[in-house]
Amino acid sequence: MTNPILTDADIDPSAIHDKTVAIIGYGNQGRAQALNLRDSGVNVLIGLRPGSASEQAARDDGFAPLAMTEAAARADIVMLLVPDEVQADLWNGGLADAVRGGATIGFAHGLAIHYGLIAPRADLDIILVAPKGPGKALRADFERGSGLIGLIAVAQDASGSARATALAYAGALGCGRAGILESSFQEETEADLFNEQGVLWGVIPELIEAGFDTLVDAGFAPEIAYFECLTEVKLLADLIYERGIAGMRVAISNTAEFGAAEGNGRIVGDAARAEMKRILGEVQDGSFVNKLMADARAGYPALKASRQRAAAHPVEAVAARMRALRDQN
Ligand code: NAD
Ligand code: MG
Repeated sequence: MTNPILTDADIDPSAIHDKTVAIIGYGNQGRAQALNLRDSGVNVLIGLRPGSASEQAARDDGFAPLAMTEAAARADIVMLLVPDEVQADLWNGGLADAVRGGATIGFAHGLAIHYGLIAPRADLDIILVAPKGPGKALRADFERGSGLIGLIAVAQDASGSARATALAYAGALGCGRAGILESSFQEETEADLFNEQGVLWGVIPELIEAGFDTLVDAGFAPEIAYFECLTEVKLLADLIYERGIAGMRVAISNTAEFGAAEGNGRIVGDAARAEMKRILGEVQDGSFVNKLMADARAGYPALKASRQRAAAHPVEAVAARMRALRDQN
């Protein structure tokens, strides 16, 4: 199923211009979204927990942060930009009672709604506006006059104008300059969780580490292994982003292209594809989210252990040396 890609020409910005948006959380997404909205002429309030580490950052950017419930109570649109696994606790711990009747509640990722961690009142509009990229890119692209691709979706439309609100919000973030795709909470959430584990953040770094280990174990210099297996990932990503996979193949040398053809299917074979299907199954049946929530409740033992494993890998020492060299020059 393909959807049309919407742009600024499809958006009525008045759906957000006279509105007050409360951004709850001033982290990666929160800061970028707050600044883009403000520059687009939207009235922005910031809601933070008492003593939040983000408070100074918000003040430095010219905001006067409020308590989360106070910001929520004053807003037409309340955007929950705190980590996915804490959203339900904050919602049930005060935000749900604070939000106005008929308000819009927005998310940048559909997890809490899709898996039923938050069960919103029937009078609220529930929208998703998910920029496809980190906050830094969302802000930097906006400042350059372009934007990030964004997904929008509506889970609950009490007012009849939830879609228009989501579109106008995405437009104010700058996504309408690049393209806005209509999706659903289910599609955005499951595809995002699948990709995190099965393609991008889970697999590509592991391939880099495994390739580095293979060369170093065979007696190659760690610096050579680092350049071959890690830094060239940036060249690859840029090429694929600019030209697609087929275009990337044309842009590299014949030797590299022939090698790519030889390597195809050997690492990512039937077993890897079958495992991808299992990962998608665990995303869809909720078992992945149950694990995530259990880890969060226990103080993140699994998350912390995986951070330590990554930090201890020998490629990190080379990477640190190379970054230091690069920064000197
Ligand atoms: P983050 O970790 O950068 O920021 C979280 C903010 O919430 C910070 O201000 C932090 O101080 C605050 N916070 C953390 N724990 C809290 C708690 N227990 N109580 C109150 N406040 C708390 O989060 P993020 O990466 O910006 O993610 C926010 C949302 O955006 C998530 O739904 C995420 O899936 C989504 N999203 C993130 C990205 C990304 O690139 N990081 C991209 C698209 C969507
Ligand atoms: Mg994600």
